[in-house]
Amino acid sequence: TFLDPDPDIARRGVTFAEVGGLDGAISRLRDLIELPLLRPGLYRSLGVRAPKGVILHGPPGTGKTLLSRAVAAELGANVLKMPATELVGTYSGETEANLRSLFSEAAHHAPTLIIIDEIDVIATSRGRLASQGDIRATTQLLTLMDGLEQVDGVVILATTNRLDAMDEAFRRPGRFDEELYIGPPDPAARREILSVHTREMPLTREAEAAFAQVADGRTAGFTGADLMRLARETGLSAARRLAAGGSGLEIAESARDTEVSIRAADVYAG
Ligand code: ATP
Repeated sequence: TFLDPDPDIARRGVTFAEVGGLDGAISRLRDLIELPLLRPGLYRSLGVRAPKGVILHGPPGTGKTLLSRAVAAELGANVLKMPATELVGTYSGETEANLRSLFSEAAHHAPTLIIIDEIDVIATSRGRLASQGDIRATTQLLTLMDGLEQVDGVVILATTNRLDAMDEAFRRPGRFDEELYIGPPDPAARREILSVHTREMPLTREAEAAFAQVADGRTAGFTGADLMRLARETGLSAARRLAAGGSGLEIAESARDTEVSIRAADVYAG
């Protein structure tokens, strides 16, 4: 079964408290998917086509997956999450069969949000260089999306770092109706993300100031994933300091050290 492929998240659900700096994206995404998921009959009664899909695009590690899970949890919909790489089969026709199973399971469990990560892997352009297998998978996905016209309460949220690699046909109305860009966080968003990832730390005023400085200063270009790592490194370094005899300032000191020692390049390399 495709349902609950990530048991840890399924157990606790992601809350908005775990998502930093994406308030605008949260409310836009909610607006886009709430009614199609939960009140699909509204569209029929008005004779308009219900929105079926949204693409979240932008650089890796900016929280696209986190955001989609939080929205689904908030709406009380089921989530069927599948990295596109896991849908790709080895024998001929296997990818198409996997896609059909995914969609039929989603319909069975409606309301369901299907999250396909890295959708560009199976939604590649059917241009000159495409293989027969790629073309078949892309065509199958388009057919399944068109078939959602007859299915209530299933919406697809796709994430990609490579919008340009996707077949144009996906970006027509009636398929993915909206593309939301999730970019690297600005200083205020970086502060929020750091506070998400330090919320269980006993922060002194000095430590809070040190983290604020880190967010405003040297972390330009850091993504949410980079900031999560930075918070964790700070925690580990504070533990070493504490083991060596505590001063009460170990978190603040470690945050400043981490600011000095971690540059975006190091983080990306890690
Ligand atoms: P990819 O394109 O590589 O799949 P993504 O944009 O989907 O990346 P996530 O997988 O959601 O990124 O982010 C990875 C981890 O980084 C998250 O689980 C979370 O811990 C942290 N993170 C990223 N963005 C944020 C954010 N805005 N707020 C809080 N944590 C974040």
